[in-house]
Amino acid sequence: MTSLKDPVTVLSGVGEKRAGNLAELGIQTVEDLMTYYPFRYEDIQEKNLTEIQDQEKVTLKGLVVSEPVVSRYGYKKSRLQFRMMQEHAVFNVSFFNQPYLKDKIVLSEEIAVYGKWDAKRKALTGMKILGSKATEEFAPIYHVSKSIRQTTLVELIKASFTGYFNQLTENLPENLLEKYRLMGRKQAVFAMHFPKDQEESRQAKRRVIFEEFFLFQMQIQGLKRAEKAESQGLSILYDVEKLKQFTQKLPFELTEAQKRVTNEICRDLRSKKHMQRLLQGDVGSGKTVVAAIALYATATAGYQGALMVPTEILAQQHLESLNQLFDPLEIQTALLTGSTKAKERREILAQLASGEIDVVIGTHALIQENVAFHRLGLVITDEQHRFGVNQRKILREKGLKPDVLFMTATPIPRTLAITAYGEMDVSVIDELPAGRIPVETRWIRPPQLDSILEWVRKELAIGHQVYVICPLIEESEALDVKNATEIYEHLQQVYSPEYQVGLLHGKMKNTEKDSIMESFKEKELQILVSTTVIEVGVNVPNATVMLIMDADRFGLAQLHQLRGRVGRGADASYCILVANPKNEMGAQRMKIMTETNNGFILSEKDLELRGPGEVFGSRQSGIPQFLVGDLMTDGNILEVAREEANKIWQIPDWQLKESYQGLSESIKIEDPEGQYFD
Ligand code: ADP
Ligand code: MG
Repeated sequence: MTSLKDPVTVLSGVGEKRAGNLAELGIQTVEDLMTYYPFRYEDIQEKNLTEIQDQEKVTLKGLVVSEPVVSRYGYKKSRLQFRMMQEHAVFNVSFFNQPYLKDKIVLSEEIAVYGKWDAKRKALTGMKILGSKATEEFAPIYHVSKSIRQTTLVELIKASFTGYFNQLTENLPENLLEKYRLMGRKQAVFAMHFPKDQEESRQAKRRVIFEEFFLFQMQIQGLKRAEKAESQGLSILYDVEKLKQFTQKLPFELTEAQKRVTNEICRDLRSKKHMQRLLQGDVGSGKTVVAAIALYATATAGYQGALMVPTEILAQQHLESLNQLFDPLEIQTALLTGSTKAKERREILAQLASGEIDVVIGTHALIQENVAFHRLGLVITDEQHRFGVNQRKILREKGLKPDVLFMTATPIPRTLAITAYGEMDVSVIDELPAGRIPVETRWIRPPQLDSILEWVRKELAIGHQVYVICPLIEESEALDVKNATEIYEHLQQVYSPEYQVGLLHGKMKNTEKDSIMESFKEKELQILVSTTVIEVGVNVPNATVMLIMDADRFGLAQLHQLRGRVGRGADASYCILVANPKNEMGAQRMKIMTETNNGFILSEKDLELRGPGEVFGSRQSGIPQFLVGDLMTDGNILEVAREEANKIWQIPDWQLKESYQGLSESIKIEDPEGQYFD
């Protein structure tokens, strides 16, 4: 019995070595080979000499009118030359370094050559010989490696279709094929490689993209259900009265959006449901206080809470803000980071184990280490996109099942949210606290820096503070530091003795960083020069100017984060981007920053300009890589696929129904955690 899961070695011409080469491309089975789709097609429709442009890639058909000649030059270099005639017009054809093609060129025979046209020299630089029966109009182009060539791959794919075409079965339900007029699977898989024409190619692709998104959604929604079903999550019965009092005593009235998300979170806490919630809110939208309320609620129910953040500075800052909100007699807090001293650490660990500590704040190492909790009820992670690790997996391995809230300011476009966070619930704070004046953003070129530094004096004179962010030099932290130090020294020259300048960079000890940050908060320093260590979450409302050097080196989301450090109080604030972008894209990105303060618009734009991999860094974001579908252009197909998957999951025991047999066979529910949250 043959099966699509047969290893590629069943195909003739594939031995161990070739199988190894194919495995490097991720091809192991016959099915892998059949679904190893080309990433584009070369349009090799035949053209006429009169209709082609200089440097255009074309296929020309004609008669060979001279003997082919190979001339050799240099080391191992060669040129194969001959003349072709098309309707009385004669032109030269050259192939470089493919002397073996000589045998295929026969005087007086018709031939079709694909290549690049040089109009001046009336010559074609050949890339491929298509033979006299050039019927293929679209040649598929695959991602290949050094050890596997295009032609080899095409042969193998053809071989797999010869033996296995009939094994391909439909995996989409009949009604969806009809509803969306989708091509059948057999035809589509074949046409992805060898389409008859452009239309067939288009339809095949549409079908395959739908299939890819749909199966993904089926899987992810299945996981979500499985998790919910098995979930004997905690029911955190908080004290409603106390919680009311707590929110009433807050120094400000919650925004409507904050109230709404707080309710969503509290409902999850109370219910037996295992909360897996993403809290999205633009910088400055007030996520911290929502976290505080959730942590407070958890404590009143006798459970412990943990708040995890990416940096120690942020941990320190969160501890301070929580301590301002919590009554120390009621809620016991603690800070646990890499730099907590051994003795103190031992004490904290003991108190966490005994349950004396209600809320612990720390860096993400917090849950990875040997920390034993008495009754862990809630884990909140701030700036979740910065964590590279799969926290849920760690928690599960520890046998803990707390409710989990992920907070992020990185605005995630809808199509990405659906995919990356498909199995989580999402709450959005879509409103800023009242009275905020939008940050005014300006883009200047480096020569204007001096006059901007003069202008900054006005802000300093009225008691405001200034951040200066140094360029990001990814290759070398040492260069980062050097740069920052130079800028720091320059600003000291410019502003002292009237104003004090501080320096903060990644190479400093944590205690040093803390003390610099503290002096900035206490207004002992007016200007803080920093590398991006302050990127996330820092809150100094008196700072009104954010000056970013070489701003074009940063991603839009990151610039937006940095900009979010100002405009946190009632005063007008400014973000100055100093940049001399090298290309049009860079210039556009700077311009967009000056045009909008809306993080969602920015992330959509960033995605458009740079693509999802660049913007989110696939490992960190947990965004799956689709093979055919494109999140930027196929968003609508994704939405439809999601809805349809949802409908099927509503059908009780759909897997047992005849009409979904193909589908249920192609959906495998594997490890629910590992896959998408690496
Ligand atoms: P982020 O969502 O970026 O983490 P923060 O939680 O740091 O934002 O809040 C930003 C600032 O807004 C803080 O100074 C906080 O005290 C303040 N804030 C939060 N909610 C409100 C509100 N409803 N009204 C007024 N100020 C608020
Ligand atoms: Mg925050």
